[in-house]
Amino acid sequence: MSNPYLLLTPGPLSTSETVKSTMLRDWCTWDDDYNLGVVEPVRAKLVALAGCDAADYSSVLLQGSGSFAVESVISSALGADDKLLILANGAYGLRMAEMARVHGIAHVLLSASERDWVSAEALRDALAADHAITHVAFVHCETTSGILNPLALYADIIKSAGKTLIVDAMSSFGGIPMDVQNLGIDFVISSANKCIQGVPGMGLVIARRAALMACEGRARTLSLDLFDQWQTMEKGHGKWRFTSPTHVVRAFQQALKELDEEGGIEARFLRYSSNHQTLVTGMEALGFRTVVSADKQAPFITTFCYPDSPAFDFHELYQRLKSEGFVIYPGKVTATPCFRIGHIGEVYPADMARLLTVMERHRFWL
Ligand SMILES: *Cc1c(COP(=O)(O)O)cnc(C)c1O
Repeated sequence: MSNPYLLLTPGPLSTSETVKSTMLRDWCTWDDDYNLGVVEPVRAKLVALAGCDAADYSSVLLQGSGSFAVESVISSALGADDKLLILANGAYGLRMAEMARVHGIAHVLLSASERDWVSAEALRDALAADHAITHVAFVHCETTSGILNPLALYADIIKSAGKTLIVDAMSSFGGIPMDVQNLGIDFVISSANKCIQGVPGMGLVIARRAALMACEGRARTLSLDLFDQWQTMEKGHGKWRFTSPTHVVRAFQQALKELDEEGGIEARFLRYSSNHQTLVTGMEALGFRTVVSADKQAPFITTFCYPDSPAFDFHELYQRLKSEGFVIYPGKVTATPCFRIGHIGEVYPADMARLLTVMERHRFWL
């Protein structure tokens, strides 16, 4: 069964036929075939992909979309007297602040515009100004705009200050080399349906064991209790507390295998980078400008300003591209009218070239 269009909308994103076909089998959640054959190998692989030693780091899988995993960490990692500093330059950073607010967690927000980084000085000043801060959270690739925040720079400042570090690496993990242990990151959060190229329905957390231990008794909800979820998986060797998204996890295991077959994270990063380069070069030739400057741009999703023409209409472009086999994303950057094109998933430079040919043919705004 073939798809009517390619998803340039991470995520969900376009997955391979082989990932999809693993979902034709049913699994028993308490049988070793599933727990030891699927869940535990997936958990171990995630720790290895993050460049972590299994003696120091572990991983937790969670039901739900990526935000459920972010909320699990935010609502489980901070004690009653702790305070969270959140760096935000887009919707996903702001969503973490919203989660802290809902759970009554003391927090402070340090913001930058959607096309800028929060500066290192501002981060240092914020940490120096408020000694109540115990944890810091930021988004690696802000999918709102496609900006790649300076992970190593921030991690160095935050860990030198002795704070617990939470990174939303939802749209970057698996698509760009990330040395989690050397950077000293305490919690890395991602999900099945981004750069690993699985299907939606599961979030994941890779965390320092000591940081997971510190979550005991801190959760503000039952279902999103990260410590409890982790302990159940550890002690039950792959057991989930509540119904597990079995097909999603099995498809994810296949997606991890295909990541290896492609040549690992480095090879995938090169493919995504070449998707991005092909797209931007072609779009610029068609007169489009990117919202984020090249030096800050991640290779996962690119935001383009609307062309300066009254005849341009995003909905019209969307429908035309859809009828030609491509689904793109509306904009999420508030300051600039824009749209987004994702280039992760089962997507190759040749697909970008086909998209550009279609774009050129449909330039109704000229
Ligand atoms: C996709 C994404 C999320 C999670 O979004 P869901 O819709 O809950 O899956 C969180 N943060 C970032 C940066 C993302 O790209």
